[in-house]
Amino acid sequence: MIADAPLISLDGVGFTYGGGPVLRDVSYAVEKGQFTGIVGPSGSGKTTLLRLLLGTLKPSRGQVSRSADLAVSYVPQLETVNWNFPVTVSDCVIMSRKPTRLIPRPTKAERTEVAEVLERLGIADLAARHIRELSGGQQQRMFLARALIRRPTLLLLDEPTSGVDVQTRHEVLHLLDDLNQDGLAIVLTTHDLNGM
Ligand code: ADP
Ligand code: MG
Repeated sequence: MIADAPLISLDGVGFTYGGGPVLRDVSYAVEKGQFTGIVGPSGSGKTTLLRLLLGTLKPSRGQVSRSADLAVSYVPQLETVNWNFPVTVSDCVIMSRKPTRLIPRPTKAERTEVAEVLERLGIADLAARHIRELSGGQQQRMFLARALIRRPTLLLLDEPTSGVDVQTRHEVLHLLDDLNQDGLAIVLTTHDLNGM
């Protein structure tokens, strides 16, 4: 049997924002169905690495290769999000699918799908809530909903266990484990192994 090709592979990747090197000679493969944690202190290049995997940054050196038609979703670190955008949880999830529409008009099928994802994440009762009025754990789940509605094969999460309480952290990790059991490949970062 021929082994599956990696979803993404980095080969001798270097990256700089223009100053000194942020990443140097990184070779790494994300395999199908894998659950990977990337650990490093603040400023060590974790977010940069995720953005290279996502494809929003291009390497300064080396190669990033993706398997054909790979669907990657990204859950940003909560602190980087602008919460003043006046939308509800379900609008915000739908907008992940339709980024060009300011006021989303979902089809019935899309509404059902959003409801199912919110249900799975335990936030069905928050669908009509304004995103500003969410707790840290609820925000985290909403971003997971936004990621999942795009039906990814690979989910990237930037410090999903930072800035949430212990209970939420457990719930999020449990949920990610379930998703991984269903075949979703996951890469997450953390600066704090104690929080895992
Ligand atoms: P981490 O996520 O591990 O905290 P980052 O990938 O965000 O690390 O940052 C790695 C390094 O790159 C840090 O020194 C940071 O200051 C620098 N950096 C991050 N983003 C930018 C940017 N947009 N422009 C210039 N330097 C940046
Ligand atoms: Mg970071």
